Amino acid sequence: MRSCDVLIVGGGPAGSAAAWKLRREGVDVLVLDRERFPRLKLCAGWITPEVVRDLDMDLAAYPHRLLTFPRLRVHLGRLHVPVPCVQYSIRRFEFDAWLLERSGAPLEQHNVRHVAADAEGFVIDGAFRCRWLIGAGGTRCPVYRTLFRELNPRASELQIVTLEHEIQYDWQDSDCHLWFFDHGLPGYSWYVPKEQGWLNVGVGGIADRMKRGGQDIRQHWAHLTAMLEGGLAPGARYDPSGYSYYLRGRVDVVRRDNAFITGDAAGLATRDLGEGIGPAIRSGLRAAQAIVAGEPYRLEDVTGASVGSIARSMLGRATRASVFSGRRQTPGGGPVHGLRHRDQ
Ligand SMILES: Cc1cc2nc3c(=O)[nH]c(=O)nc-3n(C[C@H](O)[C@H](O)[C@H](O)COP(=O)(O)OP(=O)(O)OC[C@H]3O[C@@H](n4cnc5c(N)ncnc54)[C@H](O)[C@@H]3O)c2cc1C
Repeated sequence: MRSCDVLIVGGGPAGSAAAWKLRREGVDVLVLDRERFPRLKLCAGWITPEVVRDLDMDLAAYPHRLLTFPRLRVHLGRLHVPVPCVQYSIRRFEFDAWLLERSGAPLEQHNVRHVAADAEGFVIDGAFRCRWLIGAGGTRCPVYRTLFRELNPRASELQIVTLEHEIQYDWQDSDCHLWFFDHGLPGYSWYVPKEQGWLNVGVGGIADRMKRGGQDIRQHWAHLTAMLEGGLAPGARYDPSGYSYYLRGRVDVVRRDNAFITGDAAGLATRDLGEGIGPAIRSGLRAAQAIVAGEPYRLEDVTGASVGSIARSMLGRATRASVFSGRRQTPGGGPVHGLRHRDQ
């Protein structure tokens, strides 16, 4: 049986942020993930200045696609509002693999099925033993299912369903667009360009409300793609996939003895925009901090709303990173992203 001090189930943003912090403190960590990295993760890939700051990211040195938005374009019925702020997009396929590798933690490809607690800690599938256990396996995390679900049942009214596709596409508009409540959608749809000719489009809404209103997410997808065809993304071809996760509700118990849940496993995506990468990273860091410093594991500074971050970014007060100019240099010297922002 393989032993380690801390075992992390899931190598997404929550797991790799925890692993990164623990490794920096010299802790013996092992990450288990059922997928081989880089792996596909359905996600628009919008990240905030807080994410950049929490990860201590040097944007100029980030080796993959990263686009800076100088504004979001918010559409609400006939209202079309440009919101000046600094936000970013990455491709999850690249970002998650980079984060995990940067953590320096060993990774084993393993689909966790069985979690058992005993006097010395935890045994996973009869093959791994650890003293501390971090559940970072996303919505269907087996650590959540085994140790936390009964204490922390998820509220069905907070379940989000999505359809999305990320494609290679030579976009012309480099702003991020968000359409709220279009055609009665209890949520929003998005157009998120990525650096160097990638585009993510999708729709997300509250499952329960859609069901009660007799709505089908595929109808909303059809509305979105028809609108894009006539405007922002003519000629784009899609093959969308769906995924569901939970907005933040009451999260009463996130630690049991030496077991923790983080990120989507704890249901931490923001209530207003379903932003989950930032909360996953912050909670992973807090769980690691609790282990290395013997502190309580608290989620007080894991935000439950995204508007605050956007507002701070609008006011130019967000972080060191948000002041970043939106350009970074290629090894050859030229700016490689934000290139097509019309005002640059
Ligand atoms: C369509 C869509 C768009 C989104 N857009 C955004 C966005 O633009 N910005 C944003 O901030 N958030 C967005 N989110 C939310 C965001 O993707 C999640 O909140 C975030 O990925 C949570 O990170 P995590 O590390 O908790 O979980 P995950 O990223 O889901 O990682 C969990 C990992 O655990 C592994 N795993 C799962 N089960 C097991 C098992 N049994 N054994 C071993 N490994 C396992 C998985 O393979 C995975 O690698 C979006 C979500 C969706 C569905």
